[in-house]
Amino acid sequence: MKALGTASAAPGEFDTGRLQVGETRDGSEFGLPVAVLNGAADGPTLYVQAVSDGDELNGLGVLQRAIPQIPPAELSGTVLVTGIVNYHAFQVAEHRNPIDDTKMNRTYPGDESGTASERIAAATFDAASRADLVLDLHQGSTSRMINEVRVRCGQRHRLHDECLELAKVFGCGNVLDQKGPDGQLARAGPDEGVPTVDPELGGCVGWDEESIQYGVDGLFNVLRYYDFLDGEVDLEPQTRAQGFDRYGSPVGGLVDFQRDLGDRVESGDVLFEVTDPFGQRKAEVTADDDGVFWRSRRLPQVATGEYVCSVGTDVDEY
Ligand SMILES: [Zn+2]
Repeated sequence: MKALGTASAAPGEFDTGRLQVGETRDGSEFGLPVAVLNGAADGPTLYVQAVSDGDELNGLGVLQRAIPQIPPAELSGTVLVTGIVNYHAFQVAEHRNPIDDTKMNRTYPGDESGTASERIAAATFDAASRADLVLDLHQGSTSRMINEVRVRCGQRHRLHDECLELAKVFGCGNVLDQKGPDGQLARAGPDEGVPTVDPELGGCVGWDEESIQYGVDGLFNVLRYYDFLDGEVDLEPQTRAQGFDRYGSPVGGLVDFQRDLGDRVESGDVLFEVTDPFGQRKAEVTADDDGVFWRSRRLPQVATGEYVCSVGTDVDEY
């Protein structure tokens, strides 16, 4: 038997259940929705989770579409899944856990006697630590962002090459290879000896079908490449950024982007203009470095200093 929370499956079987974490404000117990796919044949273990940020739903779309297409009878090894990590934020469609106003992906590896978010992190990290590979499905929140996979352990980490390989196998076409902040699962996992990446499936409000399809394809690429399922995976060259330049607006007004997501930009290229409500240009912002237009705000209105867009820098193909 393989188990996660109350989900428990014999070889060749699938089960769903709850991973109990504590109680909500009215005293009722709550648990994260979890699933176990126990392959008919022995093999490695993959842990996948989604909705660590409560407004990032594309990962949940990936699970909802992909899980029914993985027959345990044809699987070698085990897939452990947490469908919704940030239980409280998901209920209200917010990014951060409203119980403690915390971003989940700064709390790993968690603390089982800590804050609400730390307890969820500890419970899910316990499952991640039992795996051989981990996928933490994210997106650029509700802003607009390209489809990419993040390697967050840092280039000097002993598991860096394995994490980078996992990112290439997932295969969104773009990789950000830059050490992340403390508390990310994609950092805590490698520290525990488990290759972990953070696929970032676009950015939208609700579900974006194209990004969800990238995620479904990425999950099956991982299952095939690491021999959970039969089949070949052709590794495609990935566009890798090793840095990020963030651009804010020097003035208040309305943003007109001069570049699309995924475009190559050269130093000096105009990234965006800001106009007043009558179309009169107030400012023009140019790229400081060469790179790829990676992410941009969704709403056109900005205040002075407010975030507008990001360019991935130090770009190569690998
Ligand atoms: Zn996220």
